[in-house]
Amino acid sequence: MNFLLQQDLQYIVGKIKEQAGLSEAEIHSKINEKLTQLSGLISKEGAANIIANELGVKLITNSGKIKDVLPGMRSVELLGKVTSIYKVTEFSRHDGTAGKVGSFMVGDETGSTRVVCWGGQADVIKELSEGTVVRIKGALAKQNDRGFLEVHVNERAKLLVNPKGEKVEEVVSRSSSAERKKLNEITEQDARVEVFGTIRQAFNPVYFEVCPKCSKRIREAEGVYKCAEHGNVTPEFRYVMNVYLDDGHGTLRVVLFHEQSQRLLKKTNEEMQEYRSNPAGFEQIKTDLLGEQYKFVGKVKRNDVMDRLELVAYESQIGDPKEELAKLQSN
Ligand SMILES: [Zn+2]
Repeated sequence: MNFLLQQDLQYIVGKIKEQAGLSEAEIHSKINEKLTQLSGLISKEGAANIIANELGVKLITNSGKIKDVLPGMRSVELLGKVTSIYKVTEFSRHDGTAGKVGSFMVGDETGSTRVVCWGGQADVIKELSEGTVVRIKGALAKQNDRGFLEVHVNERAKLLVNPKGEKVEEVVSRSSSAERKKLNEITEQDARVEVFGTIRQAFNPVYFEVCPKCSKRIREAEGVYKCAEHGNVTPEFRYVMNVYLDDGHGTLRVVLFHEQSQRLLKKTNEEMQEYRSNPAGFEQIKTDLLGEQYKFVGKVKRNDVMDRLELVAYESQIGDPKEELAKLQSN
């Protein structure tokens, strides 16, 4: 995915160069301006897309193939086959109104993507099963915080189930694999990367208070915890734990938030909460982790305070020596 996105940036820059007559340096400075303007809330590709729109540059947006869908596109069209379906969940918004969201995976012969359906569009998911052909029009493409492309279908978009006469022959399986890198090769641009190494050090979880209603970080002031939105509340505790990974080429701090630390340690939230008042109970867990080999998938972030790169984990898995050996032999 990262590789594809890199290609996409070059592709968009090429189109802008061609049609707007700007130099690459000018285009990149415009992209950087846009990134600053949007406080880094958008990817480079997204910023390049906006600039292309502003300059009236036509990107080939309607090839209708999944590989040509880029983050930031506002009128995505595609035809694909459903490959998996996820549960629809209902939620309540801060203003008290009810919302609904569901998603499914769809593929064509060029790629696959998650389709996220909001509100009334989520009702369509009931009609889907594996292999159902769908046509989507007027959807919005975004890059999620795991570095994957998502196509969002809101009330303005169209989602047609089994459109007449339309067929999808071949489907590329979901490419959820992240690029494997050595620890000395990772960069700040790695939005989804896989690393493998030995845990050299493990740290106690750090607990922090959040609002029980919105999960936003809250702090104590004059003996009470106050959420900007929900007023005085009794805080809930969430946690983050760090481990140091070593792969013989370099070391990296891996940051495991809440659910990720539960998964790494195979502990429930209740068990994790107990270590808050009983940190001594955590000593054995840290010792047990030392020397264990793990595979992590995550996003690389710069820790400005410590001036180092860290991996915020999305997935962690105990290393399989057979799989690792096969990987080494195939290289
Ligand atoms: Zn709150």
